[in-house]
Amino acid sequence: MEIHGKTEDLTAAIVVAAGRGMRAGQAAGPKQYQLLGGRAVLARTLDAFTAHPSVDMVIAVIHADDGDLYANAVSEHAKLLPPTLGGATRQQSVAAGLGALTGKNVTRVLIHDAARPFIDPDTIDRVVTSLTSHAAVLPSLPVADTLKRTGADGLIEATVDRTRLYAAQTPQGFHFDGILQAHEKAADAGRSDFSDDTGLAEWVGMDVLIVDGDPRNVKITTAQDMAQAQEKFVMSAPDVRVGHGYDTHQLVDGDHVWLCGVKLPHTQSLSGHSDADVGLHALTDALLAAVADGDIGSHFPPSDPQWKGARSDQFLAHAVDRVRAHGGRITHMDVTLVCEAPKIGPHRDEMRNAISNITGIEAARISVKATTNEKIGFVGRNEGMVAMATATVVMEADG
Ligand code: MG
Repeated sequence: MEIHGKTEDLTAAIVVAAGRGMRAGQAAGPKQYQLLGGRAVLARTLDAFTAHPSVDMVIAVIHADDGDLYANAVSEHAKLLPPTLGGATRQQSVAAGLGALTGKNVTRVLIHDAARPFIDPDTIDRVVTSLTSHAAVLPSLPVADTLKRTGADGLIEATVDRTRLYAAQTPQGFHFDGILQAHEKAADAGRSDFSDDTGLAEWVGMDVLIVDGDPRNVKITTAQDMAQAQEKFVMSAPDVRVGHGYDTHQLVDGDHVWLCGVKLPHTQSLSGHSDADVGLHALTDALLAAVADGDIGSHFPPSDPQWKGARSDQFLAHAVDRVRAHGGRITHMDVTLVCEAPKIGPHRDEMRNAISNITGIEAARISVKATTNEKIGFVGRNEGMVAMATATVVMEADG
């Protein structure tokens, strides 16, 4: 295998994802395929390794039932090998991953739990670097809580000295041949119950070096862990989009204008194919822009006679539907009207309420403001009006 011109002395990562992981919420399916900020836990875990410069190839070990889940969740990457199928226990799944890497010139292997998507590059670095001097490396954290041991009666029997006690994390790093032989030896001995690979390394008498883990590198096990991980993800990296819209219409002879969904008596009217509501048109474009879904002209072609004289509230309502279809939630809308007359201030709240009624967004998240153009330019000469708008959308699913 040739990766980036490198053909030997390669470092591989095995991501173990074959468990049923139902404790994190039975209805939602195996936890490694549940979504964190719009991407599967497993996809995020694999990303951490394919993105790391010291890792040359990555393979996931999956359950035989999960082929479709995997194909839907994980995108192709030059470093990513096709997944291999796991066994009945974690140990057997790791052995399957090691088997799939045999003959690929791998000298170092990192073995990682799919349910630890928050693995950081520095921890991976520490493990890989230590493999130059040691055959087995375990990232871990000193135990911080005071530990108690109870008797069969549930009462405390003793306080356990926590000095020199560590909580094991992954990725656990090994010289490839060493851990492969250890797995073969365990299988030959009829053992299939090792819950982690350093446990197996200890069993064959390998020295295992401890390096610092990372407190953020938590394992998602329960439904509560999953909820906390999702919350952390939303808080740490919300996918916020801001769309901008601009519109202008000519002022002609007439007796009213439509602005932001409100009909105002005026000495002129706005000219246009529809009701020429510049405010709603700019806002419609801002919403479509936030989800990169074209513009008002592409959704409602002016050449189409059905939009002649149409009320613009249906354009805005359609844009709101498009935002939702892309998985977006509208958090804020802002419209600026630029005109010499009529006065907007007295109608501001009516306009905010009109937009609220059309969009279903509370008026507190809707801003309407106005300015004149200081009597200069086409707006200053009352030849036309301008509207500008922004819309802020938080993406809650892949769009
Ligand atoms: Mg327009």
